[in-house]
Amino acid sequence: MKKTTLIFLLLVFFAGTLTTRAQKINVKRIDPPSWWTGMKDSHLQLMVYGNNISKTTPQLNYPGVILHDVIHVESPNYLFLDLILKPEVKPGTFLVLFKKGKRTVVKVQYTLNKKDDNPKLHNGFDVSDAIYLLMPDRFANGNPANDNMPGMLDKVNLKNPNGRHGGDIQGIMDHLDYIKKLGFTAIWSTPLLEDNMPKVSYHGYAITDYYKIDPRFGTNKQYKEMVQMMHKKGLKIIMDMVFNHCGTDYFWKNDLPTHDWYNQWPKFTRSNYHAGVVSDPHASNYDYRHMVRGWFDQTMADLNQDNPLVANYLIQNSIWWIEYAGLDGVRQDTYPYPYKDFMAKWMKRLLKEYPNFNVVGEVWMDYPASIAYWLQNKRNKDGYQSHLTNVFDFPLTFAIHKAFNENEGWNTGLARLYEVLSQDFVYSNPMNLGIFADNHDMSRIFTILHKNLNSWKMAMTFLATTRGFPEMFYGTEILMTGDKGQGDGFIRKDFPGGWPGDSINAFTPQGRTPEQNEAFNFLSKLLNWRKNHPVVQYGKLTHYIVESGVYVYFREYKGEKVMVILNRNNKPVTLGLSRFAKDLNGYKTGRTVMEEKSLDNLNSIKLKASSPLIVVLKK
Ligand code: CA
Repeated sequence: MKKTTLIFLLLVFFAGTLTTRAQKINVKRIDPPSWWTGMKDSHLQLMVYGNNISKTTPQLNYPGVILHDVIHVESPNYLFLDLILKPEVKPGTFLVLFKKGKRTVVKVQYTLNKKDDNPKLHNGFDVSDAIYLLMPDRFANGNPANDNMPGMLDKVNLKNPNGRHGGDIQGIMDHLDYIKKLGFTAIWSTPLLEDNMPKVSYHGYAITDYYKIDPRFGTNKQYKEMVQMMHKKGLKIIMDMVFNHCGTDYFWKNDLPTHDWYNQWPKFTRSNYHAGVVSDPHASNYDYRHMVRGWFDQTMADLNQDNPLVANYLIQNSIWWIEYAGLDGVRQDTYPYPYKDFMAKWMKRLLKEYPNFNVVGEVWMDYPASIAYWLQNKRNKDGYQSHLTNVFDFPLTFAIHKAFNENEGWNTGLARLYEVLSQDFVYSNPMNLGIFADNHDMSRIFTILHKNLNSWKMAMTFLATTRGFPEMFYGTEILMTGDKGQGDGFIRKDFPGGWPGDSINAFTPQGRTPEQNEAFNFLSKLLNWRKNHPVVQYGKLTHYIVESGVYVYFREYKGEKVMVILNRNNKPVTLGLSRFAKDLNGYKTGRTVMEEKSLDNLNSIKLKASSPLIVVLKK
């Protein structure tokens, strides 16, 4: 045999082996990885992924589980199994067999757990809550051992504002008492799921595995433990979910089940970010397509929720986390960017399974009407019904930024707050709005307020006492600064004291400056008072037109009444109260909440320069 022929034959032999190996049928993953008995919806769709798995015929034999349908897609490496779980199905583990003729080529175990029927679970949040928003990579590094993990591309680099800094779930667990002491009742953490993108992965918004906590944050088990610990302490958990896009490095990146799994464009096409297009009665189809089908970013693949398999994948994933971890609520990212009919379907399904659950949507728009469109029970002209229980009140945020910076005028300064609240008639229920001065995507409020502590105190008082439920960004309590103009990393700085070896530990009074302690104590007192006073949570709001730089409003609930006054004058003011006679009728004295001073008459009140005042009225 000639040498070349031998080499040729050997090559054919090896190539043959390789082909055989590559074609070996297997199962690499099944999503969802487990499910529950006792769910209100009896459907379960399994995505089975593995080499040539579509060349097999699946079979299962478990009482109460019916393999209703098997869906083949374009890629040979997927099968979608539609199961029906009958009401009598018992928890347990069964085998799914993948057969070729009579031969079983792969078998996989699948587990159905018993749904936790504890009535204390999944009860959502409401105006009685105050939410602490934190970004786990930047809050506290409780476990330096997981900073860099095998297979995770983006390595810790504390010097890079856009790099990973090592914060994690252990860091959150270590500071739950700190958050609770501040008076917060719930934590919204930005995404903790795996984001294994090579760069700028710390924020977690380019998820590469919807079923797995990023190992640099911890494990699924540890996340669940954190939630249980929070519940023991009386804190709620709000999970950040992202349905519009996933990271471009998701496991399916080179092997999409169908070509339309993502919204495809001939070349990269960005969303126009004009969320209002979705509700605009005059919008062009061109703009609508670019808004909803355009990609949020190059690293964020735009999922096509019009494909029912994609829709099911996302819906089941959210239910899986609610059930697995015992979530109280969800914050949904970029709410208007996925298909709105899909989002309504998702909400309907969640509320069917968990009638008391809450989801707060990020609808980043300037006008109350644009926000109102997305809120549950809104009667929209186009007939759209979102079923979304809560939205964040961005218009009020922008009003806050102006209110405490601008000169007072007929329609400037505090009048901005009055004007936005006067639009509340557009909402099905304005009490379902999440209110905030900043979040992880904006300059920090103390920076926006030019580091004016008095303005900050007024803004915090307003958030704690007007309608809606407040959200505050970690570090607000220690007056952290950050300018969005410098880049996102600068508004998401590490919390001082969160890292081993930090020279300053602002988690303790000793580590805070006198000004930081003043702010911390102010906010802690304010929120702890709010927590125990339903009048500022559920109370009816009556406000008076801003006059001479003073904004006065009342909250009233079940015989309790509170008067709130914001004075933006940079000098003390004696405020005559006759204008508010109707609201003060029957009340003789009052007691201030923060200063704990008694007011022996309600004819007039002395207001300190540039400051808030909360008065509990007494008969
Ligand atoms: Ca760590």
